[in-house]
Amino acid sequence: MYYNSTQDKSKAVLSAQAIAQGISQDGGLFVPESFPQITEKELKSMLEMSYRDRAKLIMAKYLTDFTQDEIADCVDSAYTAEKFGSENPAPIATVNFNGAELNLLELWHGPTCAFKDMALQILPHFLTKSLKKVGGGKDAVILVATSGDTGKAALEGFKDVDHTKIIVFYPESGVSAMQKHQMNTQEGENVYVCAIRGNFDDAQTAVKKIFTDPATAQVLDDNNMMFSSANSINWGRLLPQIVYYVSAYCDMVNKGKVAFGDPINITVPTGNFGNILAAYYAYEMGLPVKRFICASNSNNVLTDFIRTGVYNKNRDFYTTVSPSMDILVSSNLERLLYCMSGCNDAETKGYMELLKSEGVYTVSTKIKEKLQSMFWGGYADEDATKRTIHDLFEQQGYLCDTHTAVAVSVCDAYIRESGDPTPVVIASTASPYKFSKAVLSALDKGKMPESEFDMVEQLHEITGAEVPAPLASLKGKKARFGDVTDKEDMQSVVFGALGIK
Ligand SMILES: *Cc1c(COP(=O)(O)O)cnc(C)c1O
Repeated sequence: MYYNSTQDKSKAVLSAQAIAQGISQDGGLFVPESFPQITEKELKSMLEMSYRDRAKLIMAKYLTDFTQDEIADCVDSAYTAEKFGSENPAPIATVNFNGAELNLLELWHGPTCAFKDMALQILPHFLTKSLKKVGGGKDAVILVATSGDTGKAALEGFKDVDHTKIIVFYPESGVSAMQKHQMNTQEGENVYVCAIRGNFDDAQTAVKKIFTDPATAQVLDDNNMMFSSANSINWGRLLPQIVYYVSAYCDMVNKGKVAFGDPINITVPTGNFGNILAAYYAYEMGLPVKRFICASNSNNVLTDFIRTGVYNKNRDFYTTVSPSMDILVSSNLERLLYCMSGCNDAETKGYMELLKSEGVYTVSTKIKEKLQSMFWGGYADEDATKRTIHDLFEQQGYLCDTHTAVAVSVCDAYIRESGDPTPVVIASTASPYKFSKAVLSALDKGKMPESEFDMVEQLHEITGAEVPAPLASLKGKKARFGDVTDKEDMQSVVFGALGIK
């Protein structure tokens, strides 16, 4: 299995190279040259398997330059009951909301309480094995731009991993207090955390620039280092996410929620388009899915895109209660465009160049029609998000976080508008305790405490929902980091953190 660049199809590398490098030299993203199929027989056999065995089967189809033992080692080290609370790291909770049955795929039982753990607990294992194959003995420098959850999950995944260093940038006022505290208290000898004055897109754009600058690459090379990426553009992030959609389908069949072979709908609260793209890739592999419901917050650039075929990032940026979706440039959309254009690298490159120069592009009629046949886009503003948290708790005693609430709200709107009775799985992407302030105020029960941890306590008293141990243990922990930088200075911050003069 080879991986091509979305912007230059003639590039073809094996998975270890794609994972070690993160992004293609031409600025394109690595995509599998074709989608390996899950046969009906394999899907049936997966019904009986553990999550880890399902993961091994699917991953082996893509990591053809890894041995079975290497893949098993990665999977068995990542998805332990110790790290994810049980043998199934991605369980389904079924609720009734406004009269419809919704199946919430809880992807936040990992060490940092957000779905990013599903990928970032295994990526360091993929990466160290990939570096052994193709790294030439260099240390990997992981550069991360984060809207909150990626940063902490990457830090936790990479801390004290040999031959890696990790540097995380987050927007100073674009993350929740808990997210900031989680990152600034991070342990590990190889980690560095820094805030930037600007929003997530500023951080991401600057990281991408540092990452693809040949002069910077040379400096690192001279110091026996190379950049790699833990952002959701890395193939090693996407692959583990495909697994849980296939696994969710199996669990839906086993629970009697869908007949084997019949389709489900999948709703995903979307920011960088990584999580929903993984669901789409599962479909391309043969998973029975009828529709993908793409849920956005007030930064609804994707809603407009799906409805009109015009991607326009020239619009106001909103800081919302679902900060991990406060994104106007959805990086992984590039991979969908490549796929829907029939693997047309020139066309994909053209859209990306227009996005860079004008901030707007219009896709071909062919792409638009294909997009609209599979995707439905909707958004929830701040009021709708909070109302959903409130109503879901009142109706079912189920507490969800702000991002999941966006998805529930949009899914609810889709069901009412379309009347589509297809069973639906909703990606539930974070523990409500990561966003205690917004969740607590949505429940609208009494006075708001001052400190983050008092909010956690009050939320627990009101709802009885268990506080995840990794969050509870942060109380009173001293911050190790607190630097703030301008985006223009990020490059020198990187060199400084690496000890390069
Ligand atoms: C990252 C994140 C999202 C958005 O996922 P993408 O893959 O960027 O679309 C949604 N919810 C939470 C809690 C997240 O951390």
